[in-house]
Amino acid sequence: MAAILLEGKPIAEKIKLEIKAEIENLKNRLKAIPTLATIQVGENPSAAVYLKSQKKNAKDIGIEFQEHCLPGATSEKELIAYLEKLNKDKAVTGILLQLPLPAHINSKEIHSYIVPIKDVEGMHPENVGQVMFGKMRIGSCTALAVMELIKSTGVDLYGKEAVIVGHSEIVGKPVSLLLLDKFATTTVCQIATGQRGYLPTHVKRAEILVVAVGRPGIIQGEWVKEGAIVIDVGINKVGDKIVGDVEFEKASARASFITPVPGGVGPLTVTMLMRNTLEAFKLQHAKT
Ligand code: NAP
Repeated sequence: MAAILLEGKPIAEKIKLEIKAEIENLKNRLKAIPTLATIQVGENPSAAVYLKSQKKNAKDIGIEFQEHCLPGATSEKELIAYLEKLNKDKAVTGILLQLPLPAHINSKEIHSYIVPIKDVEGMHPENVGQVMFGKMRIGSCTALAVMELIKSTGVDLYGKEAVIVGHSEIVGKPVSLLLLDKFATTTVCQIATGQRGYLPTHVKRAEILVVAVGRPGIIQGEWVKEGAIVIDVGINKVGDKIVGDVEFEKASARASFITPVPGGVGPLTVTMLMRNTLEAFKLQHAKT
């Protein structure tokens, strides 16, 4: 039986309407709206598509959008000073760093210079820590998108076998914590799992499979367990096509639900960014 397609767009549209209504209410009550400041360091054609989508989503929802473009030669010290200026700016309620950053900037540590209540990507160590303690305020946008897609299936995660392939800070690790929080039995595979040849063993018993590696077809369709929920986070350009990490045709003949690539996780990730921007705004107005 062919799997049900888990498309991100319909879920994203529904959440966008909820965010929009909440912003409208807050605007009436507080006489203020969220303002998202994005910072781009140097020319970055690959980020242009994301920037355009963020800008459009913000406009649709009622979030003020500021673009800050810094020269490619901006030093880490200068970028930190710029972030500190935005941290203090009361008109700015969310800060987003466009990736990739130039190589001379430590992109793993730079988020710790954004105040946690303006860190709309959920990458400040304090926000990452809140996820660990099951008290998430602002989480990784992609991880939240994955969780929304799983939630949309209506499947109870309690005691389910969940396997995550990839252990990056923005996807694999936060998804594993969020699934653990739902009492799924969670296994995280990474490069060493693949090198030892154990990837098929783990994938074959996954009732929930989340793949975020960035290698087309790394997950063979025949490894997918009958009835599994498959969330493919990977985005890979093959020729003039965009494909995921999972062999889609073969996997969808076995899975119960599967995300398409493109059109699955991607459209929801930007919506989660908007929801985080709203959360950050609410945290800053919590006492008013
Ligand atoms: P990343 O930081 O490069 O992480 C990739 C992960 O895959 C690493 O943990 C790596 O392990 C692991 N890995 C590599 N080879 C493996 C193998 N043979 N077996 C098992 N694990 C292996 O990438 P990312 O930022 O998480 O992104 C992953 C993919 O998702 C990319 O295609 C990216 O474009 C896509 N993505 C999509 C969205 C969206 O909104 N749809 C958002 C973010 C990312 P080691 O670190 O140990 O090498």
